Amino acid sequence: PFAWVLVTLDGADTAILHALDAPGPEAVRTGMRVRVRWAADRIGAITDIACFEPHEGAADAADAGAAPHDGVFADAVTGIVAEARLDYTYSPGRAQTAYINALSERKTVGERCPSCRKVYVPPRGACPTCGVATTDQVEVGPAGTVTTYCIVNIKARNLDIEVPYVYAHIALDGAGLALHGRIGGIPYDQVRMGLRVEPVWTEGGRHPDHYRPTGEPDADYDAYKELI
Ligand SMILES: [Zn+2]
Repeated sequence: PFAWVLVTLDGADTAILHALDAPGPEAVRTGMRVRVRWAADRIGAITDIACFEPHEGAADAADAGAAPHDGVFADAVTGIVAEARLDYTYSPGRAQTAYINALSERKTVGERCPSCRKVYVPPRGACPTCGVATTDQVEVGPAGTVTTYCIVNIKARNLDIEVPYVYAHIALDGAGLALHGRIGGIPYDQVRMGLRVEPVWTEGGRHPDHYRPTGEPDADYDAYKELI
């Protein structure tokens, strides 16, 4: 056994929640003095505090703010139910805003890393490999290549698509990584790696409803093997 305790560190105005090495309820009381037990390996993170332990010999704090209890835990609070509400404004950032705005014109815009030249679609504003901001906007597609896919046999709730259907990784022409989308306009068992596809938009849609075959010859494996 151990205890969860709120500890107000000397000099602090607020308490932190942490574990206290205590063999049982009788070993814990409000106002008791405790000290940090440091982890064997310290790396400069909160995990450096292995736990707290009783500070033997130190007098209890007189003004702990709560009356010491008698060690009887019959009325211990074991849980509370609280309503919570979270209001937030989602800001997708510069790169994704440009991506979303371009989609409204039925264009797909990625961003190229100035270092490794990879074109990210959708763009996140930075290249995670090189750690630099991506700034060059590059229109990709509209056609692309199926790099890999799965056949979906389980109907999703609130999704009016007959099963089985194919969900695929699609490398749009010019993109440095694949995005995913549904493949339509072809029997599910004829979809294949290398299949050339193009987006199909529906009225008022903010993104392609699905992708359908273009009728072009399949792409060479070498052309998309890095994008699977
Ligand atoms: Zn890069």
